[in-house]
Formats: sequence, C-alpha cells, structure tokens
Amino acid sequence: MDNLFDFARRASERAADADGDARISDATWEDFRDSGVGTSPLPTELGGLGLWEPQQGERLCQILRALGGADLSIARLYEGHLNAVGLVCRYGSREQIERLASDVRAGALSAVWGADDAEGLSIVSGEGADVLKGRKILASGAGFVTRPLVTAKGPLGQQMCLIDLEPGYAHDIAGWQAQGMRATATGIVSFTGRPVNGREIVGGPGDFMRQPHFSGGAWRFCAAHVGATERLVDLFRDHLRVSGRGGDAYQLERLAGCVADATTARFWVEDAAKRLAMDVRSEGIVAFVNLTRMVVERSALNVIERVQKGIGLRAFVRPNNVERICRDLTTYLRQPVPDLAMSDGARFFLDSSLPVGDLG
Ligand SMILES: Cc1cc2nc3c(=O)[nH]c(=O)nc-3n(C[C@H](O)[C@H](O)[C@H](O)COP(=O)(O)OP(=O)(O)OC[C@H]3O[C@@H](n4cnc5c(N)ncnc54)[C@H](O)[C@@H]3O)c2cc1C
Repeated sequence: MDNLFDFARRASERAADADGDARISDATWEDFRDSGVGTSPLPTELGGLGLWEPQQGERLCQILRALGGADLSIARLYEGHLNAVGLVCRYGSREQIERLASDVRAGALSAVWGADDAEGLSIVSGEGADVLKGRKILASGAGFVTRPLVTAKGPLGQQMCLIDLEPGYAHDIAGWQAQGMRATATGIVSFTGRPVNGREIVGGPGDFMRQPHFSGGAWRFCAAHVGATERLVDLFRDHLRVSGRGGDAYQLERLAGCVADATTARFWVEDAAKRLAMDVRSEGIVAFVNLTRMVVERSALNVIERVQKGIGLRAFVRPNNVERICRDLTTYLRQPVPDLAMSDGARFFLDSSLPVGDLG
C-alpha cells in the first residue's frame, strides 16, 4: 500500500503539467504501473491487492482520497479501471477474469464506458456473427484504455462487453474542452461493425445496474471528491499561515467551516464504504450512498466557495494549485442524476418507520 501513496505524492507534483498539457505523461503512466497502482484492484491470487472487493473499502477509500488530493484526473481514471475489474470479477467467467488480469499485469488500463448518445450502443446480428452498432460518449481514457468494459443494448437487455482494443484505435477527444479534468481524455469511441462474441460478453442482461453495487459504488467517486476537498482545505490553511492572515476572525470562521465540511464528507464516505462491505439490506445501503453523494457535493461546494473568498484573486490565477483543483473538482462533481439520487434517499426514509439513527 505504501507504494500507492508514494505514487500519489509524485502524481501531485506532476498534476499542474498534466493539466497544462491536457495529458497524463508517459512517465506518470510508467510510474502508475511500476508502483503497482494498475494491478492493485486485481484479486491477490492474480497479482493484485484485491482492492476491487467491497471488503477492502476502507483501504480503497484511503487510496482514492490520496489520488483525489493529488490529481483528480488520475483518480477518475483509476476509479474507472477498478470499477471495470470489479465488474468482471463479480459477474465474469474465470477465463475472463484471468485474461483481464493478465492484460492488466502487462500494463493495460481498463475503464467502464457506460454513457450513451441518443442512439446508444447495441448488439445486432451481422453476417454470421453479432456486431456492435453505435458509439460511447464521455469515455475517459479514450485512446489509451485498451480493455474497456462497455454497456450495450442486447436482445434481452443491457449487456456488458469486455472489449480488446488495438493500440492506436480511432477515437475523438477534440470535443473535450471542459473547464477541468482536462487530462482524462474523455471522448468518443465508435464501435460500429466490431464483431462481439460470447467470450466478450460479461455476466447476464441487467447485471451492470444490479443493486446495491451499481448505485452503492458511487461512494468511490465521492472518496476522490473528498480527497480533493481536503487538499483545498490544507492549501487554504497553508495560505493563511504564509500570508499572516490566519489570526483574523473571519478567516478562522472560514477555516473552521472548511474543516467541518471536509471531515463530515469523509465520515459519510467512510461509513458508506463500510456499509457496502457488509452487503446487507441493500435498499438501505443504496439510500445511504445516495445521501452521501448529496453531502459530499454540498461540502465540496462550500469549501470551494470559502477557499476562493478567503484567498481572493490569487485562487483564480494559474499556476496556483487551488485554481486547478477548484476547476477539476467543480467539473468532476457533475455526476449522473444528482436530484434523483437525493430524492430516492429521502424517499427511503419517508417510507420507513425506523428512527433516522437506525437507518441504513
Ligand atoms: C471527468 C468526467 C469523466 C467521465 N468519464 C466517464 C466514463 O469514463 N464513462 C462513462 O460512462 N461516463 C463518464 N462520465 C460521465 C458521467 O458518468 C455522467 O454521465 C455525467 O457526469 C453526468 O453529468 P450530468 O451533469 O450531465 O448529469 P445529468 O444526469 O444530466 O444531470 C444534470 C442535471 O439534470 C438533472 N436531471 C437529470 N435527469 C433529469 C430528468 N430526467 N429530468 C429532470 N432533470 C434531470 C440532474 O439532477 C442535474 O441537476 C464522466 C464525467 C466526467 C465529469
């Protein structure tokens, strides 16, 4: 595990360059592999640290916070890679797990590409074989992820396919002109005409969205958000000390609010990870993680506002790390259907007769 934290420290030093270049350097990817970050999600008997397993949630939470504090783009790519490994380990065949593990040990990066445009990606009958039709959008790591797990509409429902992409495959990241998370290479990959066989189909129809892990797994991106939020609080504290402005009552009030928000968010995420590791009463876990998303988002936005006001204009001028982290965090906080997640969480409590302290 120490290797992973050391990697995060080095990635932090390179984060400004990665943002400026909108690209994670080859040296960082080499480091990612050499330090064991890439293999860490794999089962231990296949050369990893078993971090995909829900029971490893506490350790994974620490890693995701460290990566989130270092470079949110790397945290995002690592989270997608781990999610894909986890889905294959949970729903895939032994052969699929071993093949993916072998590719990851050889340096391959995986990802979950689930987002669709209006048409979506489908499995259709071709000449003598099934083929994919359509494309994936908002696919992080487009161009360098070679073992993505993609979702596609099949005849019996949504299906996961673990694809083998040849290096240099066609992709389009020209449209990724986002405010932050520039180095994630989030783009479009077309799959039209690519044959898909039974060995690439992972699990059964509907497995991808099976609860509690589909919604419950959201605690992982929350952990990355918390790491970046905590880093902002540290940088604010450093600024107040260096500038000699820390004794001011208003600044102390801001700092107190920042510490409280970051710590509250961390407690929720750690608890969410623990509950998912127990894997009981799935509905309550999903509700708890849905509310965790709300708490983490609110905490991060509160911290961003206080840090920007407390530091002032310098927080908006490059190459101040605060400027970059605020851009990345603001962008990465945009996750699917936040209103629905919050209201589903509230509805669970509404429909329950348990005291709030006994929920989840
Ligand atoms: C940096 C980054 C990397 C990403 N990488 C990947 C990746 O590798 N793979 C992948 O699959 N995806 C990826 N995504 C996409 C991600 O999974 C989500 O699709 C995306 O973040 C959704 O954000 P959104 O704000 O568009 O969400 P939306 O769900 O569109 O929410 C926007 C707003 O609309 C509201 N809303 C949503 N639905 C409705 C409705 N029906 N009626 C009324 N209001 C509604 C929401 O509550 C919210 O207020 C990435 C996203 C980011 C930011």
